[in-house]
Amino acid sequence: MRPQILNPLFASVSTLPGIGPKLTKTLTRLLRGNENEEEARIVDLLFHAPHSVIDRRNQPGITNALNGAIATFQVHVDRHLPPPRGNRRVPYRIDVHDDTGELSLVFFHPRADWLEKAMPVGEKRYISGRVEWFNGKLNMVHPDYMVSETEFAELPLMEPVYGTTFGLSSKILSRSVRSAVASLPEFPEWADDALVSREHWPSFNSAVKRIHKPVDALDLDPKSPARRRLAHDELLAGQLSLALLRHRMRKSAGISRVGDKSLVHKIEAALPYTLTGAQQRAIGEISQDLQKPERMLRLLQGDVGSGKTIVALIAMVEVIETGSQAAIMAPTEILARQHIASIKPLCEAASIKAVLLTGREKGKTRKEILQALEAGEIHLLVGTHALFQSDVVFKDLGLAVIDEQHRFGVHQRLSLGDKGMATDVLVMTATPIPRTLVLTAYGDMDVSRLDEKPPGRQPIKTSALSAERLPELIQRIENAISHGQKAYWICPLVEESEVIQAMSAEDRFASLKAQIGIRVGLVHGRMTTEEKSKAMDSFKSGETRLLVATTVIEVGVDVPDATIMVIEHAERFGLAQLHQLRGRVGRGEEASHCILVYSAPLGETAKARIGVMRETEDGFRIAEEDLKLRGEGEVLGTRQSGMPGFNLAVMEHHSDILEFARDGARLLIHSNPDLEGSQGEALRMLLYLFGQDQAIRLLRAG
Ligand code: ADP
Ligand code: MG
Repeated sequence: MRPQILNPLFASVSTLPGIGPKLTKTLTRLLRGNENEEEARIVDLLFHAPHSVIDRRNQPGITNALNGAIATFQVHVDRHLPPPRGNRRVPYRIDVHDDTGELSLVFFHPRADWLEKAMPVGEKRYISGRVEWFNGKLNMVHPDYMVSETEFAELPLMEPVYGTTFGLSSKILSRSVRSAVASLPEFPEWADDALVSREHWPSFNSAVKRIHKPVDALDLDPKSPARRRLAHDELLAGQLSLALLRHRMRKSAGISRVGDKSLVHKIEAALPYTLTGAQQRAIGEISQDLQKPERMLRLLQGDVGSGKTIVALIAMVEVIETGSQAAIMAPTEILARQHIASIKPLCEAASIKAVLLTGREKGKTRKEILQALEAGEIHLLVGTHALFQSDVVFKDLGLAVIDEQHRFGVHQRLSLGDKGMATDVLVMTATPIPRTLVLTAYGDMDVSRLDEKPPGRQPIKTSALSAERLPELIQRIENAISHGQKAYWICPLVEESEVIQAMSAEDRFASLKAQIGIRVGLVHGRMTTEEKSKAMDSFKSGETRLLVATTVIEVGVDVPDATIMVIEHAERFGLAQLHQLRGRVGRGEEASHCILVYSAPLGETAKARIGVMRETEDGFRIAEEDLKLRGEGEVLGTRQSGMPGFNLAVMEHHSDILEFARDGARLLIHSNPDLEGSQGEALRMLLYLFGQDQAIRLLRAG
């Protein structure tokens, strides 16, 4: 049970004063990525760190104000100058003065009645905003604040600025965060005392207050004691959770699995190609792990198209040779179907029974699969998260492979290992996570890398094209299709709403279909799984030759003869995503093209991203560049970063803290593995606070 004192923080944001159903939805979209998620909680607001601060302490007096600066004045309201009737293009002005000079407040399309109430003639008011000198007069266009003396006393003069989302003003967001901060209880100290005093860190509580109510612009610097303290706590919770998990996995001994290679040889003989050096190396490393009497916990990293599936298959077959079963879990049904389609013919060559289990296998079919599985008649099970369900019982699961894991949580993916006695676990990722980040996301897993692509691949030619030239592009695509090529057309990413994204895909589909004719398909996130796999199948078989899609195809889809990838509004995508998408082509022997369509003007970062994409196809390099290009504000302000959920820790700045946290977690697991006593209690509090509840469940399971 979560400690009582935390309950208020885990209540929905709607329990805060002034937050109604509509704002709750918007906050949920901002903080949880999607408004249909479970409602955002107060703790989510607390961990939404501001990316910068506006300093309103500057009160120079009107005459002394610097052009372009943010300034605050105490003024006397002189007169209102509404625009002449019928001429809405003239702004509404309010003239004010102080002891030093005069200033005009300027409003475009304001609500006059509201302005009259907020700025009554003859009264004293405080105003704050950006000022500009124009024709010898000081102007302030749309002041940020116009308040009375009492309201001014409440105003934070160091105003934190948050990453926000459409329909949510920074002001409303700050107000919400302020009431969240007010509900913060006192916590016991969970961090190592020596570390805290050496680093001069404030307590967790004062650190949270400090970033949301900064006293100094430096408070939001990632190197500030408050930021470092919070990064530490977040990282410690993560590392401790991973350490607990590993501790428990290691406590139960593994099994040494040594096959006779008879089945592996059959599979290899059935392959239409030879394995690359990197694939052979990875297979060798996995094979050694399997032979050791400890449980395997290995990460297989390989760029899209590097051929991870066959490595996994051979590992599974090795385990099947020893008489155990193996399972591979994919994040989507499309992928699971693709796996079974590629795996099954090979398995048949070795008389291995491979079966698919997803949410779609129901009733009698499902029952039969489950029975055969428990009886050990099925050797290899391919599936989605349906494999987690408790009625899925293996006779003897020896190896669990989890593909494209970044859609699963650490614990979720490893809990598949609980389906068997001493099950070995192989996690595969197509996200070429930089080395520094492997540790945070996975803890101390062993890593194999596929850093070599299968031979015969042609490089993908990448070009950038302004959206103004779309008609020309459509013509080229039509021409290519009539010459037998296949193309993907990726519709713009709409961060905030899957519905809008689907709508834009529908629109694009309709217009392309009108121009190109009948062989256009569509797949997006609002379609049912059946509709999606039907669309994919038609594209695969060639019934459709142009597939309009949203990012649902980002993960792992394999249509080797697709050679053209168009990405619309490429400037809205992050590097990791562009790279994943581009990896859908260039999988066969034909030359492939990726066309990044952008809308001018491009920002600096977007320009740099497109430059990197044109320059290299090396996923590991792209990942490093991505880390460099992602500005601090972006990393903190939004959740679009490809890296698994950190709000407060930023790898570029806090890697030393990551090491403290990892070492600290290891020590704790040694000295206090069950997290007992007052130290243990504080640490449990930390785990709950950062959403690591699963780790605590492990403690109880013992
Ligand atoms: P990913 O690492 O993205 O999961 P896949 O395992 O889907 O990559 O492999 C991509 C494609 O490359 C598949 O069509 C697969 O059959 C093919 N492939 C894998 N290994 C080799 C190889 N050594 N030589 C040639 N083709 C290969
Ligand atoms: Mg794959």
